[in-house]
Amino acid sequence: MTSEIITSKELKKMDPVFGQHSFDDHEQIVFCNDKDTGLKAIIGIHNTVLGPALGGTRMWNYASEWEALNDVLRLSRGMTFKSAITGLNLGGGKAVIIGDAKTQKTPKLMKRFGEFVHSLNGKYITAEDVGMTTEDMDTVREVTPYVTGISESKGGAGNPSPITAYGVFMGMKAAAKFKFGSDILEDRNVFVQGIGHVGEALVEHLVNEGANVTISDISQERLEEVRSKFGVTIYGGDDLYSERMDIYAPCALGATINDETIDKIQARIIAGAANNQLEDEKKHGRILQEKGIVYAPDFLINAGGIINVYAELEGYDKPEIMRKTENIYNTTLEILDNAKVNNITTQTAAMNIARERIETRKRENSK
Ligand code: NAD
Repeated sequence: MTSEIITSKELKKMDPVFGQHSFDDHEQIVFCNDKDTGLKAIIGIHNTVLGPALGGTRMWNYASEWEALNDVLRLSRGMTFKSAITGLNLGGGKAVIIGDAKTQKTPKLMKRFGEFVHSLNGKYITAEDVGMTTEDMDTVREVTPYVTGISESKGGAGNPSPITAYGVFMGMKAAAKFKFGSDILEDRNVFVQGIGHVGEALVEHLVNEGANVTISDISQERLEEVRSKFGVTIYGGDDLYSERMDIYAPCALGATINDETIDKIQARIIAGAANNQLEDEKKHGRILQEKGIVYAPDFLINAGGIINVYAELEGYDKPEIMRKTENIYNTTLEILDNAKVNNITTQTAAMNIARERIETRKRENSK
């Protein structure tokens, strides 16, 4: 085996991990490597002031290890603020496994990953994310108790998506109350982009309330399925952003509010489930504010899923989960009002409150 010698000049040019924008004061990053199972994973622990760092594991075929590192850092940081704003006693963490979930995921690999999680003694608690299933979490559970999102038959809280959708619906109603003076969504034009697990459940709430729902998705099959179930309209145009609508609900991918789309957006409210909707939190948040578009921060209104897994740790029953998720309505209104009073973006208002909660706890802990 040859080892390459890196000159000090080259070292200076390398992007240090601690200096990455997404590093943002992470407490700990764990690189997990196992030759026998082919496991290459990274666990990011951003902050544990409020409690153990809880966040799902994503398995993805990343183009590079740097991309995987960047993703886990960005996601774990997001979890810190999501749990803080929701009032949960949880810190922020996330894990990524590098590889194709369809072809490279095996029970042995999942168990080995579980052993790495276990070695952190509960500082990080995992759950499912993209590329993971409830069954995978059941496999992890065989080697560590530090896992949530396991099957209901094994004492877990089950599928989080309907709860996430309910929280998004609550956040959307609060944004409507703020913008239109009424939270009744009857006859409002709502575009739901992405009708997967969360999107479809959101469509159901909207249809029950009498909203005019238009759906878009890259899967024609899903579109037909959801249309036949709920009688909604399939979007027929080629530029959804330019359409006039009351509410735009991004429920597919992140970063759909970006340099290309922001000038075109005609919606009066943006409220959806996708994580990291603003490509650039500061810049795009500010432009939305200037355009008078009410943006319900994603990490605030899509917290139903984390409430659902938190319930597994705290032993909450379903009514308690629903009550906590319903409270997203009040928190959203509070944040929208706060942003207006202080003339700041809604994203900043939400981040400020989350940071304040963490700082207060830190002061209490150090007494
Ligand atoms: P999903 O994979 O079930 O659904 C995503 C849907 O979006 C699919 O139907 C897919 O075909 C569609 N899609 C993909 N690219 C698209 C595009 N360019 N335009 C339109 N549609 C497109 O995912 P999900 O569980 O419903 O989650 C949706 C979003 O919400 C994700 O961003 C996820 O990270 C976020 N989220 C989910 C939960 C949860 O509980 N599931 C919790 C918090 C946040």
